[in-house]
Amino acid sequence: MNSGMDQVFAPWRIEWIRREEKNPEIDDCVFCELPEQESDRENLLVARSDHAFVLLNNYPYNPGHVMVIPYAHTGNYADLADEQLLDHARLKQRTFDALSESIEPDGFNAGLNLGEGAGGSIGDHLHTHIVPRWHGDTNFMPVLSDTSVIVEALEETYDHLHEAFADQDGTTVPHDDSAVVFGSEQG
Ligand SMILES: [Zn+2]
Repeated sequence: MNSGMDQVFAPWRIEWIRREEKNPEIDDCVFCELPEQESDRENLLVARSDHAFVLLNNYPYNPGHVMVIPYAHTGNYADLADEQLLDHARLKQRTFDALSESIEPDGFNAGLNLGEGAGGSIGDHLHTHIVPRWHGDTNFMPVLSDTSVIVEALEETYDHLHEAFADQDGTTVPHDDSAVVFGSEQG
C-alpha cells in the first residue's frame, strides 16, 4: 500500500556513507565542519547564502542529488528563526533553478528526514535533500560501481551546477575553488 512513499524516501537512507570514509578526521558534525573549511570545491560545496549552503551528496541517488543545509546546528525544524527559514527556502528555489538549467531533469523529489525514525544517517543537523528525477530513471549508483567513475561524475556535476548558480543574479565567486556566494557576503 505505501510502497510509493517508500520509493520516494528510500534514496535518502544511503546518504553520506562515502563522505565519512573520505574525512575520517571529522568526528563531530560534518555539516558544521565542512563549511568552515576553505576547500569548497574539494568538499563539493557548491553554493552559499547568508544562512544556508548547498552540498552535493557524494553517494547520490541520481546525478545532481544535493542537500540544502542551514548553517545552524539543529535537528529541530521549529528552532529555525524566520530569516533562517526564508533564506533556506530561497536557496532551495535557486537550487531547483540551477539544476533545471544545468542538467534538465523531468522533476524533483525534495524533503527533510526528521527524527531517528525517518531513516537519515545525520539526524541532529537539518538538511533538505533535492533529488533530480527523469522519466523511467533508476538509482544509478549500482551502475557506477567504479569509485573513480563516481568521483568523475560528481566533479562534472559540480562544475555544471556551479556555472548555473554563478549565472544567477546577485552572485559572486570569491576565488577559483570557492562556492558561488549569494546575498550580503558579496562585495
Ligand atoms: Zn552540525
